[in-house]
Amino acid sequence: MLKIQNLQVHYGAAQALFGIDLNVSQGETVALVGANGAGKSTLLKAVMGLVRPSRGSIFFEGTDVTGFSAVRMVRQGLALSPEGRQLFGELTVFENLQLGALALKLNKSKVKQGMEEIFSRFPRLAERKDQQAATLSGGEQQMVAMGRALMARPRLLLLDEPSLGLAPLITDEIFAIIRQLSRSGVTILLVEQNAARALSASTSAYLLVNGRILQSGNSEKLLADPKLRQAFLGAGSDNRPEASRLGAAGLTNIRLEKPDMTNQSFMPSFKSEDELHTHQLKGLQWTINHVYQGSSFYRTQLEKAGIQPSDIQSLDDLRKLPFTSADDLRDGYPFPLRSVPYEQITRIHASSGTTGKRKILAYTQKDVDDWADFFARSYEMAGITPLDRIQIAVGYGVWTAGMGFQLGCERIGALAVPTGPGNIDLQCQFMLDFQSTVFCSTASMALLMAEEIHKRGIADKINIKKIIYGSERSSVSMRQKISELFGGAELFDIPGLTELYGPGTGIECPNHDCIHYWADYYILEILDPDTLKPMEPGEWGEMVVTTLCKEAAPLIRYRTRDITRIIPGPCTCGSIMPRHSRIRGRSDDMMKFRGVNIYPSGIDSILSEIPGLGSEYQVHLSRDAASGRDSMKLVVEQGEHCDRKRSFELATETVHQMKKKLLVTPDVELVQYGSLPRSERKSQRVFDTRLQDDIV
Ligand code: ZN
Repeated sequence: MLKIQNLQVHYGAAQALFGIDLNVSQGETVALVGANGAGKSTLLKAVMGLVRPSRGSIFFEGTDVTGFSAVRMVRQGLALSPEGRQLFGELTVFENLQLGALALKLNKSKVKQGMEEIFSRFPRLAERKDQQAATLSGGEQQMVAMGRALMARPRLLLLDEPSLGLAPLITDEIFAIIRQLSRSGVTILLVEQNAARALSASTSAYLLVNGRILQSGNSEKLLADPKLRQAFLGAGSDNRPEASRLGAAGLTNIRLEKPDMTNQSFMPSFKSEDELHTHQLKGLQWTINHVYQGSSFYRTQLEKAGIQPSDIQSLDDLRKLPFTSADDLRDGYPFPLRSVPYEQITRIHASSGTTGKRKILAYTQKDVDDWADFFARSYEMAGITPLDRIQIAVGYGVWTAGMGFQLGCERIGALAVPTGPGNIDLQCQFMLDFQSTVFCSTASMALLMAEEIHKRGIADKINIKKIIYGSERSSVSMRQKISELFGGAELFDIPGLTELYGPGTGIECPNHDCIHYWADYYILEILDPDTLKPMEPGEWGEMVVTTLCKEAAPLIRYRTRDITRIIPGPCTCGSIMPRHSRIRGRSDDMMKFRGVNIYPSGIDSILSEIPGLGSEYQVHLSRDAASGRDSMKLVVEQGEHCDRKRSFELATETVHQMKKKLLVTPDVELVQYGSLPRSERKSQRVFDTRLQDDIV
């Protein structure tokens, strides 16, 4: 009845259909399934004469109808019930139905006869015939759209997305009508996103992907095809759980409903180091000029150092610039380093930590977009694609962590399962139900999950292929244990700090011997933390960063306090992006404990405010091997003349103050005055045994 040969359609320069061949026989219902944007509607429009094919031919009942107008097509015996119904909301049901017969120029009695047939098929429409179409429910509007098409007495009915936006029960009703129509002899070409439905309601089907027919044949056979079920049907394959991994979320495949993102890349286009350096110099010049014009803080700093923006002529001139530190952030609270007018700031984020040390950073929309772009690049380097499902078990809210992982996930087009941290039961359940392929968390959370997965014996039922973890140190043995208990997942360390957008400023190389960092967004210097002189390439030192395109709160030689080193030379993975080691520690003794940043100075000030305590103390951080939980023990000397009987009371008060001000609950042990070792140099106060072996 309908024969389509080598049909091609272009919208301007963009090709929507690539050589489609399709047949519909008399009395058949043929389904055309595929994702949004696959070209289904374009194909129907081309058949209906609403879109002009650029090549190929369409035959209807033996006549070449290629290029016929829509009105002529209706007279030939075709009718279209379009996607989104396209009713005239102000007109009544009756008037809308009448329009369907317009092209045929029928006399009144024929129209009346047609109308009666429609009303007997759709009794609900008879009841509402004088009602405005806009006041109908979605299901009733769909009936009007189908009825309007049937008014043209078509021999071939084209149905575009009849279930779109309808509740499941209403969808059942619409499909019952489609089957009735088919039984009464109407030939139907059905376009439908809901693949399982369409296949059940049709005799044969075509699967359209990116403008091409990928598969076609008997609907029942297609429905039973395990490969098609796996890629496309999801819940249609409940009896084969392994087949539903990629489609577990519903009847239609979420993946295929998104634009094709498989060929995008977020990697920079630089081919050589020279090109990168040219880009960096431009970025540095822009930044210095930007802060000189936009920030009173930076302008004062630059003037003090005797620097004008025009003085920056080469990357070596970076060395002339003054440093910025965490103190500058605190002094500038709540909008430190602000270099744009307030109305250009679109959000703020804060670093974790206690009130006194909390850092707030502002972002413009471009800053947020840049962050999303390079986070997507981090995912890309880890081999993550739009087909992945990323379970994001890091903190959302004012912290940058969750937001960054989420932004990057959306940018790359993967599916986010935003669980947030903690809640082990939910994490396990979602890993099973959604078959998440990527898990993002802190290292200790990943260890906790790994052990839980082992305990529950579900390692072979989950589908985690990659773990992206950050924000704290991890050891080789800890990484091995996590990977093993997760059933062999690949681990990627992701660095980042709030001051520098957030996490994702680089990521562990796919060859796993370093972290590639995004040198087109910031310049990394490694300096001696005491002398602030540059270290030789390969030597450990403090990471100092200068941003190249950050607008709201740019960083100029910002002292991160993180200790790492630059790894010279090209990487075996082939990436041109430079590398640094994983973060080894802090130059200011900051501790990370259960997600909270703690400085010895914070403990100093708490202890000094409790009369009866001495000034010497030790912090012991340990990790329970079985549970993976960290604990903190605080050993404090009593004051020289303090009564020993007060030790219980003092310990209780210390726990109370630590909890209140630092948000941690340590075990506190009081010891006699003078019993802790003293040293002429800086005494070691922090004993961190959580990691037993070397950092790579
Ligand atoms: Zn590499």
